[in-house]
Amino acid sequence: MPLLLVREDITRMKTDAIVNAANTSLLGGGGVDGAIHRAAGPELLEECRELHGCKPGQAKLTRGYKLPCRYVIHTVGPVWQGGGHGEEAVLRSCYTQSLTLAAAHGCTSVAFPLISTGRYGYPKEQAMQTAQDAIMQFLTHSDADLTVYLVVFDKEATAIGRERFKELQSFVDDRYVALHKDVRRRDAEPLEAMHEDALPMAQALPSPASAPNFMVSGSLAEALGQLDESFSQMLLRLIDESGMTDAQCYKKANIDRKLFSKIRSDLHYHPKKTTAIAFALALELDLPTTQDLLGKAGFTLSHSSKFDIIIEYFITKKRYNILEINETLFAFDQPLLGA
Ligand code: ADP
Repeated sequence: MPLLLVREDITRMKTDAIVNAANTSLLGGGGVDGAIHRAAGPELLEECRELHGCKPGQAKLTRGYKLPCRYVIHTVGPVWQGGGHGEEAVLRSCYTQSLTLAAAHGCTSVAFPLISTGRYGYPKEQAMQTAQDAIMQFLTHSDADLTVYLVVFDKEATAIGRERFKELQSFVDDRYVALHKDVRRRDAEPLEAMHEDALPMAQALPSPASAPNFMVSGSLAEALGQLDESFSQMLLRLIDESGMTDAQCYKKANIDRKLFSKIRSDLHYHPKKTTAIAFALALELDLPTTQDLLGKAGFTLSHSSKFDIIIEYFITKKRYNILEINETLFAFDQPLLGA
């Protein structure tokens, strides 16, 4: 069920379906529409002729022909007229209708461009917010096993505004640069050779894995008992303690059901670091407990990686929205959270 941002030409996406930001005639145009028709070949236009157009906010499906996807879902976005003409509702409907059509055709993966943000003039940040919101609404209320990709051409579209970007940039620089200056002075090791796990513990962020956090665990006996917990045992315990259902937790973590089932059924499951962090954020853990959970899977957060520092930033600010964090990671060219 996850939603992921990618930077790619949508005609290269090997998803079950890609979505075309078409116009009402469905007979091709410029921008992403032109690119899709060129890559699919003339048969796509022939099938489109039989559809007799499409209204804004609606969606129609064709085959993918020479494209690597099985289907193309054609939807017509709103033309931006200042925002007071129901543009947002129409845009939202484009995503919902396209996803409904994809699910009805058994698709398990769909890629969207940022509809209306080209010739139709919709402001990119707002379009991005509406796109993510509409997609998450659909995924949260649907049983379909669907992975959705938002294909973004430029960083401008990410809703992390200039001020926030600057603030984060200096947060990252303060920590990242300071550490690397130290390291260089000490042993003149090239930066590229540094790996977070090779760092001495003193330079990692506080990790209570070796010193149980009594405030969190309650008692010494409990804390000692938790030393033997595996990653999946700790995760399941934390989910229970949070009062969330499993589904609420993995959906909030942007993790798909299959991956969660694997973790649930295998006591010794070894997650990727991004997966472990996604759960820590979904559970709204503080920094020490996040380190504890990561430690169970052999990871830590340190100041030798920008990725880690960005995660630290959001946890210390108690901002746990994975989509917001993923947008930021995307803007900094870092790996994204979730499956
Ligand atoms: P609209 O008419 O709905 O505004 P456009 O095709 O003009 O549609 O642009 C929609 C968005 O798709 C823009 O943000 C544009 O940068 C992006 N885009 C254009 N070509 C591609 C492509 N090949 N793959 C992914 N995104 C694309």
